Amino acid sequence: MLHHIRLGIASTAVAVALTAAPAANALSAPEPAAANDASAAVTLRYDDSRAAGWEAAITAGVASWNSNVENVKLVEAAPGTRAEIQIVATSGWPQASLGPVRPGGQARVELGSQAVTQGHDKTRIVAHELGHNLGLPDTKPGPCSQLMSGSSAGTSCKNAVPDAAEQARVERAYAGGAAARVPADGRMLVDAR
Ligand SMILES: [Zn+2]
Repeated sequence: MLHHIRLGIASTAVAVALTAAPAANALSAPEPAAANDASAAVTLRYDDSRAAGWEAAITAGVASWNSNVENVKLVEAAPGTRAEIQIVATSGWPQASLGPVRPGGQARVELGSQAVTQGHDKTRIVAHELGHNLGLPDTKPGPCSQLMSGSSAGTSCKNAVPDAAEQARVERAYAGGAAARVPADGRMLVDAR
């Protein structure tokens, strides 16, 4: 009998809590906090106004990163505004500076036509070089599944998506604004073959 009475009291308490709508709203307050986490992603702007002929590859390469990592987002800089990442077309080999580049910092991507002449995929080239800016070194030789294996995967490789380990490394570099505290390496990595 006593047991039943206790259950009855507990049920009443639950009913009270459920009808106390304002309190329930207060308890669900962490929802906006989660949204804040998403907006805390580091935004890096890029200027590709000197990368004629690479527009579609840049759009696709940037989209690959933006859809596969959460902690850093790449956005095209408005004309005439400052950009952290300068993307230029060259007649040499693709190369890029090693990051992780910070907001307000400076990184460079050179989209060299020699790799295209040899048959390498333009979108994979863009995504690979941006990977350097985001702090990833080369992993050559390596399989096509790795973005940072670059040209070592051969000209038939068109994968422009970073694998799970590559994604995780970039996420760590930019987690909680970590990129603001860790200096970028800054070395230029030349992807010549
Ligand atoms: Zn490389």
